[in-house]
Amino acid sequence: MRHRIAVIGAGPAGLTFARVLHRHGHSVTVFERDPAPDARPPGGTLDLHERLGQLALSKAGLLAEFQALSRPEGQAMRILDTDGSVLRDWQPRPDDHANPEIDRGQLRDLLLGPLDVQWGRGVTEVVPGVPGGVLVRFADGRQETFDLVVGADGAWSRVRPAVSSVTPHYTGVTFVETSLDDVDTRHPDLARLIGDGSMAVYGVNRGLVAQRNSGGHVKVYAQFRAPLDWHANPDRHPSPDRRADTDADFDADTGAGLEAGPDPVGAEAVRARLLALFEGWAAPVLDLLRRGAAFVQRPLYVLPVSHTWAHVRGVTLLGDAAHLMPPLGLGANLAMLEGAELAESVAAASGSGDLDEVVRAFEEQMWARAGRWAKMTTAGLERLVSPDPAEAVALFDEVHAS
Ligand SMILES: Cc1cc2nc3c(=O)[nH]c(=O)nc-3n(C[C@H](O)[C@H](O)[C@H](O)COP(=O)(O)OP(=O)(O)OC[C@H]3O[C@@H](n4cnc5c(N)ncnc54)[C@H](O)[C@@H]3O)c2cc1C
Repeated sequence: MRHRIAVIGAGPAGLTFARVLHRHGHSVTVFERDPAPDARPPGGTLDLHERLGQLALSKAGLLAEFQALSRPEGQAMRILDTDGSVLRDWQPRPDDHANPEIDRGQLRDLLLGPLDVQWGRGVTEVVPGVPGGVLVRFADGRQETFDLVVGADGAWSRVRPAVSSVTPHYTGVTFVETSLDDVDTRHPDLARLIGDGSMAVYGVNRGLVAQRNSGGHVKVYAQFRAPLDWHANPDRHPSPDRRADTDADFDADTGAGLEAGPDPVGAEAVRARLLALFEGWAAPVLDLLRRGAAFVQRPLYVLPVSHTWAHVRGVTLLGDAAHLMPPLGLGANLAMLEGAELAESVAAASGSGDLDEVVRAFEEQMWARAGRWAKMTTAGLERLVSPDPAEAVALFDEVHAS
């Protein structure tokens, strides 16, 4: 490679960027904080859209392998009323490959392939404008200089402060995730309830979503408006009738409150609080919470809808680091497409001196597209966790009509 490029973060954005560059004959090093690919659970399933995530995979030459791994049947979506009656039951056509699902771990392994990833290399700081380019400082005390540093290090990016002082804020909506294993053999009643893809139930300012992953694994998300410390402080129990605080602090060093972690008050206490919150809902729906294993709190943070920055020579951001938005099925898709597009532009500019112009043009394009999706997903979250549950069903109808 004619330019020295560092990719920070081995998520969908960073790996897609590195893989597309690799396809064009350029190697880059990806620096990842996690000590190994399987150091922590990879998270739930992702639906990759034809014109976003799948387009990125085709730019990486990986579309056929994705199609072999992905689950088109996982696009199925069922909506129940809180009494258990079926409101919508949408099944994809057998040839529908618009948004097939893939497990995050499978996607990561697919992208990793031949890439050079340095695991256990967390970045602490990025300093642009030093002699020789951009300085990257690592948690292990080492430091290196690059021509371009690509910050693909997610919501609590350590690269972002080099270009922007903006930090994520809490939306007021929290997801609590639990899961079921071997659902077809151990919980056949719940397997039938969920179907081949996802099942959702919406109430006043709260919802319950169950989503199939591969191998009979199901992730369940309880979604509600609540203050950040709802689980720790019984006096601040989430109330469906009250808007949540949105100005609570987070730990910017660790991202605590955002990233997965065992709940300090214990699984049974969380289960009891969730069952109280969803009291009165149909018994089979509540069984998803009753039989779920550990609970993980995921408060939803976002960056401002039109987050941009004054261009800084030698540093850019991709994916959640650039435009963290509510999880309505777009974040990984955008992250991957951005990674692929930046890689193609960088490969085309290789050998010439105009790398910075390429990055500048990429940023303009990314900001415009991400801004549109951030606006839509922000409005979408308001409708999914809404005082009027009919809004969530109407949103589903609009998406499936388009
Ligand atoms: C519940 C939920 C469901 C979702 N469902 C979908 C979906 O169906 N479809 C979809 O498109 N999106 C979905 N999303 C959003 C999606 O997960 C993210 O938008 C996507 O993962 C962003 O990719 P990324 O590569 O930018 O960041 P990340 O996936 O966060 O990856 C960042 C990487 O950087 C590493 N890192 C962090 N800090 C450092 C550091 N200092 N040094 C080195 N490495 C570091 C991390 O360990 C990680 O590997 C969902 C999100 C949630 C919370």
